Amino acid sequence: MLGEIRGEVRFKELLSFHTSLRIGGPADIFVVPQDVEDMRHALKFAEREQLPVFVVGGGNNVIVKDRGIRGVVLRLEGCLGRAEFHGEEAVAGAGVGLSALIREAAALNLGGIESLVGIPATIGGALATNAGTADGRIGDFVSAVYFLHPDGTIGEFKPGPGNFTYKAFHLPPGSVLVGCRLRLHRRPLAEIQKEIKQRLKVKKSTQPLALASAGCVWKNPPGAEATRLLEKAGLRGKRLGAAEISTKNANFIINRGGATAGDILGLIDLARERVHHQFGVPLETEIRIIGD
Ligand SMILES: Cc1cc2nc3c(=O)[nH]c(=O)nc-3n(C[C@H](O)[C@H](O)[C@H](O)COP(=O)(O)OP(=O)(O)OC[C@H]3O[C@@H](n4cnc5c(N)ncnc54)[C@H](O)[C@@H]3O)c2cc1C
Repeated sequence: MLGEIRGEVRFKELLSFHTSLRIGGPADIFVVPQDVEDMRHALKFAEREQLPVFVVGGGNNVIVKDRGIRGVVLRLEGCLGRAEFHGEEAVAGAGVGLSALIREAAALNLGGIESLVGIPATIGGALATNAGTADGRIGDFVSAVYFLHPDGTIGEFKPGPGNFTYKAFHLPPGSVLVGCRLRLHRRPLAEIQKEIKQRLKVKKSTQPLALASAGCVWKNPPGAEATRLLEKAGLRGKRLGAAEISTKNANFIINRGGATAGDILGLIDLARERVHHQFGVPLETEIRIIGD
């Protein structure tokens, strides 16, 4: 079954090469599928061998633990990497880069999704995490989601209110997102470019974009902002090994070079405990933690 995969199959592939934090031990079996058929072969193999499957898009919102992953990792960035535009709608594969999609749409005078600009993501990862900002999340623009069931059949889902929640989209267990339809609207390129420029400027001034991170570590608790709580608890700049709570935005942990997942998880524990102790607020991670 693995032999039928036309894309790449690697063994003991270090996931630090595939995460924005540059952290993560080896995946026993690492598959970069070429198409949906390859994904089916990988899922079938995992089912037969009773191995867990982990999906990684761009790896921009995950911490992979130091001992890596016992199972099959499907890496989808670049696979299913085509987008088409029909009228005021985009049909995009799960491996399409979010920034590329926004750029391609803008060139056709199609906008409406500018609130997603500057978020490093594949479409699959953006859907799974309902990526976005307070001004708009990807779930607000989705008219259909396509996914692969573990048995290899394709499912289509038309989301209604409540299907996409804060930082999550709940897929049928074990399924893999393969694409979606997004509602756009006509907007002159110059207007879109102006808005993109403004948004990127704000993002650059509030987030440590040039350093290795995995975006916000914490969800905002109801009625509060995680970043403010972390700052008030004096956690800015706190270090463990080569991991550091960003001085620019305390909701980001950065890898200064050579940090381990253990260092990052140590800072996560420290921040959780301190915020709980000082403010009685239980913080919940936004970042996905996987592996042994
Ligand atoms: C500098 C920086 C800034 C960021 N700013 C923002 C921001 O403003 N707003 C925001 O929302 N996020 C932000 N993030 C976080 C991150 O960019 C988003 O969560 C993004 O959606 C992750 O996409 P990805 O393709 O890298 O997913 P990954 O990190 O690879 O995966 C994230 C989760 O999605 C699942 N997944 C991925 N693809 C699929 C698929 N095809 N099928 C099923 N499950 C899948 C994975 O299993 C995992 O649980 C930022 C990150 C960085 C590094």
